Amino acid sequence: MEKKISNSLLEEREDFVCFKEGHNKNSMKCDGNSVSGSVSQRACVYCGARVVLNPITDAYHIVHGPIGCASYTWDIRGSLSSGEDLYRNSFSTDLSEQDVIFGGEKKLTAAIEGIMEKHNPKLIFVYATCIVGVIGDDIKAVCKMAEQKYNVPVIPVMAPGFSGNKSKGYKMACNALMNLFSRNVLPKTKGINLLGDFNLAGEIWIVKEYLKKIGIDVVSTITGDASYDKLIKASSASFNVVQCAGSMTYLAKRMEAEMEIPFVKISFVGVEDTKNSLLRIAGLFEDEETLNRAKALIKEEEEKVMPIINLYKENLKGKKAAIYVGGGFKAISLIKQFNELGIDTAMVGTQTGKKEDYEVISSLVKDGTVILDDANPYELEKFMLEQDVDILVGGVKERPLAYKLGVAFCDHNHERKHPLGGFIGAVNFAKEINLSINSPVWKYVKESEENEDS
Ligand code: SF4
Repeated sequence: MEKKISNSLLEEREDFVCFKEGHNKNSMKCDGNSVSGSVSQRACVYCGARVVLNPITDAYHIVHGPIGCASYTWDIRGSLSSGEDLYRNSFSTDLSEQDVIFGGEKKLTAAIEGIMEKHNPKLIFVYATCIVGVIGDDIKAVCKMAEQKYNVPVIPVMAPGFSGNKSKGYKMACNALMNLFSRNVLPKTKGINLLGDFNLAGEIWIVKEYLKKIGIDVVSTITGDASYDKLIKASSASFNVVQCAGSMTYLAKRMEAEMEIPFVKISFVGVEDTKNSLLRIAGLFEDEETLNRAKALIKEEEEKVMPIINLYKENLKGKKAAIYVGGGFKAISLIKQFNELGIDTAMVGTQTGKKEDYEVISSLVKDGTVILDDANPYELEKFMLEQDVDILVGGVKERPLAYKLGVAFCDHNHERKHPLGGFIGAVNFAKEINLSINSPVWKYVKESEENEDS
């Protein structure tokens, strides 16, 4: 069972943090609202919705709120596009004090009409932010009127920042996507939708190339490198394949219930999970030739990448890692990937992991590993130091915490500049971990700390 950690944590946070101990199932608290005053690393509801929908490259994203909300999420993902780059802009109604007093619906109507008349859009999303939740603008009614007037989908995303946690934002984005998909229910074709790959550093192109080689058609990518014309065909897929389970399981479940599209969860993070995922997808259509092509592709790729990964492994034996990422699926894959490199995970946490994710995490790590949900900066720093880790894998908000402590860091989130998915991604990951951990800079950091102490 898990031992609770109580020394120096906020009392209300104690149940969200534990040490792995023995084989019993993980029983810590998770998937709830953040503790007040704990300074969660999570983003707000609006931001959760925005990161899911942002990679739709030819959509107009209107942020109905103060300019800060739009600026906070401007070009937030490193999602790449093979076509339009409209999504890299931010549109905002720039609400001010007067609008808070008199209402912002007129401004929103004007913003939508401005885009309709000047830009001939195919699709508009309108995001509700905190202040809209407070003043009560009826954005659903404004969107409906605009849609009737111009005959273009204008979809409200009901995501006031304070109305829950980041997971709720994912759900609101999924509801907005269902609003779009359900307008065009098509007969099934022999293809899949890829859910929850956001094409960071072009990762979706790597996966699509694998699938092309084994003969699987991709109907829609949701939402990496997505466009209106492809998304509107999503209902015709025979299966949904879910990469980011944290943000997309809800959508997959709704599509299964309402469009009869079954789903499987996969992960293209690490060699082991990439292999298993390709076999799983190839097996969906029960066609031996597809399965054989997948096996041949795996063999060919493994022969290419394993000798390189094994070289890096030599440099990394005995090192210790900390993981703090958005969802459970990525944390699980990263633990396995570190195992492949001979690195133990000494601390692991997520922002939005579910009970079943933490059960798998607990089964994968050694006794003594710290497992934590919805951590704050103090906890991350405390356990990185106590566990004496060599590297932290996280996102932009975790980077300064690691560097401040003289710990190496790997960005596995929006800001990564090279793909970390698929076989080539596993090589890039091993290379980055090796370069970061074994950089000479850490020696100088330690020396300067020792000089300060003496
Ligand atoms: S929606 Fe609210 S919490 Fe989110 S960025 Fe805007 S003001 Fe901040």
